[in-house]
Amino acid sequence: MSTLSLTSAENHLASLVTSSGEAGEIEVRSPFDDSVVGALPVSSEEDVTHAFASAAAVQKDWAERPVKERTAVIARFRDLLLKERDALVDCVQAETGKARASAFEEVADASLWSSYNARHASGLLREKRRQGTFPLLTKTRERHVPKGVVGVITPWNYPLTLPASDVLPALVTGNAVVLKPDSQTPHTALMVLDLLLRAGLPRDVLQIVLGPGPEVGGALVAYADYIMFTGSTATGRVVAAQCAERLIGCSAELGGKNAMLVLEDADVAKAAVGAVRGCFANSGQLCVSIERIYVHDAVWDEFVSAFGERVRQMRLEPGFEWEADMGSLISARQLDAVAAHVDDAVAKGATVLTGGNRRADLGPYFYEPTVLLGVTDSMELARKETFGPVVSLYRVSSDDEGVRLANDSEYGLSASVWSKRNGPRVARKVEAGTVNVNESYAATWSSHGAPMGGMKSSGLGRRHGAQGILKYTEPQTIAAQRLLPIAGPADLKKETWAKALSAGTRLLNLYR
Ligand code: NDP
Repeated sequence: MSTLSLTSAENHLASLVTSSGEAGEIEVRSPFDDSVVGALPVSSEEDVTHAFASAAAVQKDWAERPVKERTAVIARFRDLLLKERDALVDCVQAETGKARASAFEEVADASLWSSYNARHASGLLREKRRQGTFPLLTKTRERHVPKGVVGVITPWNYPLTLPASDVLPALVTGNAVVLKPDSQTPHTALMVLDLLLRAGLPRDVLQIVLGPGPEVGGALVAYADYIMFTGSTATGRVVAAQCAERLIGCSAELGGKNAMLVLEDADVAKAAVGAVRGCFANSGQLCVSIERIYVHDAVWDEFVSAFGERVRQMRLEPGFEWEADMGSLISARQLDAVAAHVDDAVAKGATVLTGGNRRADLGPYFYEPTVLLGVTDSMELARKETFGPVVSLYRVSSDDEGVRLANDSEYGLSASVWSKRNGPRVARKVEAGTVNVNESYAATWSSHGAPMGGMKSSGLGRRHGAQGILKYTEPQTIAAQRLLPIAGPADLKKETWAKALSAGTRLLNLYR
């Protein structure tokens, strides 16, 4: 297995970081074999201040361009993503250690989301007529103006998809952006900036700063006009509190403990295949990963046997070939957290149906896809997010019991319901921002026209769809009054105007 070397591109990518080079370097290592991928300059607080100042200096000009000019940049970026597919997939794999197919999904997703932005932003941003106070007398228009300079903080698990998901709608709506990607995966974010520049994005409209979250991320929150954060619920609370202090808006996609329901009438063979993908895509390091499966009594034996068999057949492999079903975890910290959850569950009486072992023979952070039975509330992983390739199976005596247990969680990000006839009906009872029917997670995520995000402790706001684009704007209402003032003619008695207004209001109420 050979590890990708980014050495040839390293100097170019390093030059795209907003950094004076005086705050040191981040060394990025490949989870496949701990080899060095590259080293990039860290940004000091002064560098972050500089990033915001240069972004603000070009933002107004960018916002004043016709929307079509901005969407044209996004459309060219979409095409470049596919043109540079192999280099991007290599970079994502080198930084995350994920399987190639999983890395490719990031390119496909970013390209489709670019298309959505390119096609729909003009319509969403078009000034719209709204109902005024009185017909003919009040002419009311709603328009959307950019927030200014948006701060985007992204994690390591989807280093291409997540920056693209959040940076593109912020840019297309006329904002400038300062992005802080996770310190473990900065090269991929820099490749996104490189492609956007090649697509015609003016220099400085998107800035990338690098460095530890509490310092560099904290500085971002201190200067931005709006924050989009993706990461853990714990950090999300810190960021949201800082945004509240500054009275700026924020949107956050946080953790989950996502449930899958295999209903009495499920197609069990299909559900088993879906569960493998839902639990183990990107080694389970996916915000919408399934970590709990509730299976109806009537199909329990068949499902446990089919799912266990499929998991045992999964191919774990390091490297850049397409055949692997699952790659590595990102880091020693993530591996230790996953192993600690499984060890705690087993020590307290859980049974391992399959998996449960580190695989140092494959790479330093490999862990087997793991299925647990007999998980109880006393175990750490029963309620806490593992964020790794571990799932617990629970037998339930009715579909309603499955729904009740699925909802018994502080989280509400994503869910999956498998049923031949009752999927959409049962989906409506599930407390989650996105519910997939006969699919594990991708149907909702890739429905880019619909909002995606979490209920309860899983987040604030939504990405994707109209909301995911317009949240980067301030709605502005402009109402022009003609002929008669709202308070009535100046020389009319107040009581006479009140009577006329009452009659007018009665009439208006019939048509509003
Ligand atoms: P974090 O929330 O710690 O990190 C996410 C991003 O926030 C990174 O860019 C990080 O920077 C930055 N950050 C960290 N602290 C702050 C801060 N105080 N202010 C501003 N930004 C900050 O997630 P982890 O990477 O530590 O992952 C831990 C857990 O988070 C996972 O086990 C999982 O539960 C959850 N998670 C959820 C994701 C999702 O998609 N919903 C994605 C990733 C993680 P840096 O890392 O460079 O210090």
